[in-house]
Amino acid sequence: MQLDSYAAKGKMTILYHLLRGRLQLDETIAERVFACTSCGLCDVACGYNQSEAIHEMKAVLCKQGVAPPEGYRKISTSTRESGNPYSANSAEGDTVLQSLSESKLSSADYTLFLGCTQIYRESEEIDSLLKILRAAGVSFRIPNEQICCGSPAYRVGDEFQAFEQAKRITTLFESMQSDKILVSCAGCYRMFSNDFKLLMNDESRFKTTHTIELLQELIKQKRLKISPLNATITYHDPCHLGRHSGLYDAPRQVLSSIPGVRLVEMEWNRKFAKCCGAGGGFRAGKVEDSIAIAANRVQEAKATEASILATACPFCLRNLRDGAASIDSKIKIESVESILAKLVL
Ligand code: SF4
Ligand code: SF4
Repeated sequence: MQLDSYAAKGKMTILYHLLRGRLQLDETIAERVFACTSCGLCDVACGYNQSEAIHEMKAVLCKQGVAPPEGYRKISTSTRESGNPYSANSAEGDTVLQSLSESKLSSADYTLFLGCTQIYRESEEIDSLLKILRAAGVSFRIPNEQICCGSPAYRVGDEFQAFEQAKRITTLFESMQSDKILVSCAGCYRMFSNDFKLLMNDESRFKTTHTIELLQELIKQKRLKISPLNATITYHDPCHLGRHSGLYDAPRQVLSSIPGVRLVEMEWNRKFAKCCGAGGGFRAGKVEDSIAIAANRVQEAKATEASILATACPFCLRNLRDGAASIDSKIKIESVESILAKLVL
């Protein structure tokens, strides 16, 4: 099989021949199909939903027991065995949540769902987020149990495990009588607002808001006092938030509302934004390639002469930072929340 079988067009050619019975599913095909970050840029490029077709191929491979390469497989196994894709001790995740005062509340307007990456890898992001929500007087509570949203398992085609996570989450929210869910991870957002409907036959009964949408609203209502920041910032659209959910304006409006900030765009932005390289299990499956893609995105940010590369997803944040480190880039990579948290009075 040629190198172009890694590209979207090559994957579609594989699908064409599979459907005609000219190819059989095997580990070589699995390796090509899984080499995809689920970014959806190919959908925009050709106007046909190729990323969904690739997802279906992953799901079929998974159901038929054709082993995906090991890193991808581990996401599934870890979610099943540890309750999260990082193989972290979930009791520690529960302890983090239970240490937050909002986990003791019995009612609030929003339920803030904190995802695995925030809890097990980027916990300072939680501090930033809580600082802003508390400063604005947002009424929110936090579950005292950490459950993975199922996005990593779903993106590697394990719909069975993703469905199990969806059931557990739905039961958790029902037990808390929560119907307004707040998330700040792009993967969790897409999962709750879109994929749960597919997995649960449209039976998910809650509305999901990304914190970036809430921040936009809080700023509009003048509920946050923000000190100035003299900086040029460029924004990386997380694929699950931008291309897959259409949320482009809110993060830009939040950043532009900071006095002194000059917002500049990278060459590839909004629906054409390049991926950070982490999604679809790619970071676990092909870590070096994943970080090389992130480094490419960081180079693009550097070309704007921005001093800060901002994003709205802890998973993008993590990969972009690794990409920057791999090329010794000094550009600061921060979430919109962490930029704002330092400025909130
Ligand atoms: S990585 Fe992105 S552009 Fe490439 S095939 Fe996957 S979804 Fe399409
Ligand atoms: S980690 Fe971010 S940029 Fe990468 S695929 Fe996921 S949402 Fe897209």
